[in-house]
Amino acid sequence: MTHAVFVNPDFDCQSCGACCAYSAEWPRFSLETEEELDSIPADYVAADLGGMRCENDRCAALEGTLGRAVACKVYAVRPIVCRTCMPGDDECLMARARLFGTDR
Ligand code: SF4
Ligand code: SF4
Repeated sequence: MTHAVFVNPDFDCQSCGACCAYSAEWPRFSLETEEELDSIPADYVAADLGGMRCENDRCAALEGTLGRAVACKVYAVRPIVCRTCMPGDDECLMARARLFGTDR
């Protein structure tokens, strides 16, 4: 996955990626330390330094094909918002519904 921990087998993040392509406003930085932010490769950070760089709604660090096979290129150093979003939670369901419809 992009968010790695499979707490719910019905939600396979590595074949999803919906939350990483939901909105350019989504992968924003919050309480990260300067050190944590410095560890994210600059290529993937937005010009305003306020979050991850996105192309349209999709985070630039997401590789692969949505709904098939995806991975986060900065997984080990991903922002807090990416760590706290869990498969099956409200944000996850919202992202999946938008991208894939409500049937999955
Ligand atoms: S939308 Fe849900 S299932 Fe899909 S990658 Fe994000 S947390 Fe995982
Ligand atoms: S940093 Fe990684 S986990 Fe976070 S939105 Fe981008 S691709 Fe997804």
